[in-house]
Amino acid sequence: MSETESESVQGRIRKCLWCRRAFEAKQPKQTFHNRKCAQRAWKAKKKDREAIQEDRTARVSPEQLLYQVQRDRDRISVPRLEVVDYLEARAGVLEAEEQLRQWHKRLMDRRARLLKLEEPPLSRHVQLLLGVQALIVPARTTAIGLVSTDGLIGVAIYGTPR
Ligand SMILES: [Zn+2]
Repeated sequence: MSETESESVQGRIRKCLWCRRAFEAKQPKQTFHNRKCAQRAWKAKKKDREAIQEDRTARVSPEQLLYQVQRDRDRISVPRLEVVDYLEARAGVLEAEEQLRQWHKRLMDRRARLLKLEEPPLSRHVQLLLGVQALIVPARTTAIGLVSTDGLIGVAIYGTPR
């Protein structure tokens, strides 16, 4: 397929392959609306390649996955997939349901573990951590328990002697 053919297929008004914003193409092969998006896509591709090589439990990145599938479709001259709000909203609900299922199982496992442990003679103070936040350690604290599973929410419990 020649450049002029791909130009006529895609037209001058295109959607950026990374951020999906519409833009007017100034070059026949332009697939990103600016250099920043091209760099992000390049970084994602590099990161993805490294993740496949190093880590089988790589995280899901919707932008990255979508970028790859659209790029592959461009390559074989199949129209890009349209991102539809309803389908995205539905996927969001299913994701939340799956998260709840997994967290419910974690809760059961954690409660079972807690029941097996002996309670120490300490007064407890709880700090809920949301995002990056410093620990606020109360006076007379001698012990701590600190947990964060996804790096978004965490809990610190401080123990002070009774
Ligand atoms: Zn863009």
